Amino acid sequence: MGRCYGDSALSAHIVDARSLNHFLDFDSSSGLLTVESGVTFDEILQVFVPRGWFLPVTPGTRFVTAGGALASDVHGKNHHVDGSFSDHVLWFDLFTASGQKLRCSRTENADLFHLSLGGMGLTGIVLALAFYMKPIETAYIRQHTVRCENLDETMAGLESYGNWTNSVAWLDCMAGGKAFGRSILMLGESAKLQELSPKQALNPLKIHSTKGIPFPIDMPSFTLNRFTVQAFNRVYFNKHPKGSQDSVVHYEPFYYPLDKVLGWNRIYGKRGFTQYQLVVPHQDARKGLQEVLELLAKRRMSSFLTVLKIFGEQPENYLRFPKAGFTLTLDFGIADSLWPFLNELDQVVEQYGGRLYLTKDVRMSADFLRRTYPMAQEFIDKLKEMDPVGTFRSLQSERLSIHA
Ligand SMILES: Cc1cc2nc3c(=O)[nH]c(=O)nc-3n(C[C@H](O)[C@H](O)[C@H](O)COP(=O)(O)OP(=O)(O)OC[C@H]3O[C@@H](n4cnc5c(N)ncnc54)[C@H](O)[C@@H]3O)c2cc1C
Repeated sequence: MGRCYGDSALSAHIVDARSLNHFLDFDSSSGLLTVESGVTFDEILQVFVPRGWFLPVTPGTRFVTAGGALASDVHGKNHHVDGSFSDHVLWFDLFTASGQKLRCSRTENADLFHLSLGGMGLTGIVLALAFYMKPIETAYIRQHTVRCENLDETMAGLESYGNWTNSVAWLDCMAGGKAFGRSILMLGESAKLQELSPKQALNPLKIHSTKGIPFPIDMPSFTLNRFTVQAFNRVYFNKHPKGSQDSVVHYEPFYYPLDKVLGWNRIYGKRGFTQYQLVVPHQDARKGLQEVLELLAKRRMSSFLTVLKIFGEQPENYLRFPKAGFTLTLDFGIADSLWPFLNELDQVVEQYGGRLYLTKDVRMSADFLRRTYPMAQEFIDKLKEMDPVGTFRSLQSERLSIHA
């Protein structure tokens, strides 16, 4: 679906997997769903929510394919409890550079299995995959919203509410002084039938709306500047009363707020935007995040949408991104001043033992990848052994000198 933010799905020749769009099998006793890799999360939800099943892990858009979710090893708001998407995959069929179709699982072609999770499609084309869905009683989320007045409260909130399955903090990256790092923390748990309002209970397994509102034009690139972002953030933050609030909301606004507006990215204008997603391990995360946010203020950069999440433990595995710590996502409109600034941010991220998410990346250097992903070189060596000519490549893998 081309939903990665960078150049990992771009190449001179592109294999479009969307015609691999069949549902193959479902075992209702275990929740194991088998689909071809081009089936989208949107399609899965339409079929399975009315039957009382939900995705085990979902990114912030449902317009992704199951194959893309595996290749990026996507994570959701529940990583600290449920891990990432790949953790729920039992097996997949891979079309390899040698022209074979191989079944890969934790016991069959195990190394190829692990190389392909988060492997950005470089090991071959995922044709079909089987993963476990989660049972749900309703399509609603019991939401608890907490206003956090500064960075300490935000980070402590994400840690202390770790028993909630879903958590995410929208962060006001423009606030300074005592309000530095303030946020709205959103926690969510799949709602039980008795928690719904009488109106919600009329259709407890209601699917999301399949219509979106199109964003009509490319906005002029000055629309999102320091002042408009600051004003928006202030209004959004103050819309939430001090303390906390409880509500029951449909899964659509909880998981997929951006999907409602089709082509929302046009708000950044013709030059577009890029996303910078970093993770820093728990140790010194407070200092690391503070330095990142301070650098933003110092260089007068603004991120329109800034999100902080917590990652649970995840063993180091080739190019998979998550590791225990905090992950911060920043959106920047493209400008000439952006690239040197991101190079500066890289230095902070590396200094605190962090790294960047490949599916959001469009400019990381080959050396930075090797320095921040301890298993990157092993991935590259094994890939070269399997596929010496680099059959499956992308603009990203070329930029990162993965095949050279
Ligand atoms: C609004 C929005 C919110 C997002 N939120 C999150 C989030 O919360 N968490 C998160 O982890 N990600 C998030 N993402 C990123 C997105 O989930 C990933 O980029 C995902 O991989 C996109 O899936 P896709 O089908 O569009 O794949 P593409 O973008 O088309 O491809 C992504 C990668 O997967 C490979 N690939 C795709 N299909 C196959 C296949 N069949 N076989 C082998 N390789 C394949 C491609 O080669 C490429 O390297 C978000 C993206 C958007 C636009």
